[in-house]
Amino acid sequence: MGTFLPSITAGKGATEDDLERFLEKITHSNGCWLWKSAKPGKYGTFSWQHRQWPAHRWIWMVANNRMLNRGLVIDHLCRESRCVNPKHLEAVSYSRNARRATIDARRKQFLEIVKGAPIPKRPKERLVRADLSAPLYQR
Ligand SMILES: [Zn+2]
Repeated sequence: MGTFLPSITAGKGATEDDLERFLEKITHSNGCWLWKSAKPGKYGTFSWQHRQWPAHRWIWMVANNRMLNRGLVIDHLCRESRCVNPKHLEAVSYSRNARRATIDARRKQFLEIVKGAPIPKRPKERLVRADLSAPLYQR
């Protein structure tokens, strides 16, 4: 784990103890690292150097060895807000994140409609032959 300890802010690095403390707070589930104390749909928070950090942002910065630039947000590729697996986190612009959220919402809505809808029965094959001799308009 020695290589996984870059500094987050100038002169102040995350230590091995910090990382250990962090990793104690997660539980593994289908490749996701779920923050144990976070409620579904919420982010976990990690206290580090007298500050509360959103856990996913903290681990992203440690894993990527840089601060998160202004204007960027962390997108959960796995769509699990409690997840702090750095491999599931991507820094994207606000607008892209919003666009993804809209697409997600539409997909969810669509799936709910599809799930709730009765399965259409296949219509009986019924060919209606057009009567070509019939007048187009009834007089
Ligand atoms: Zn995940």
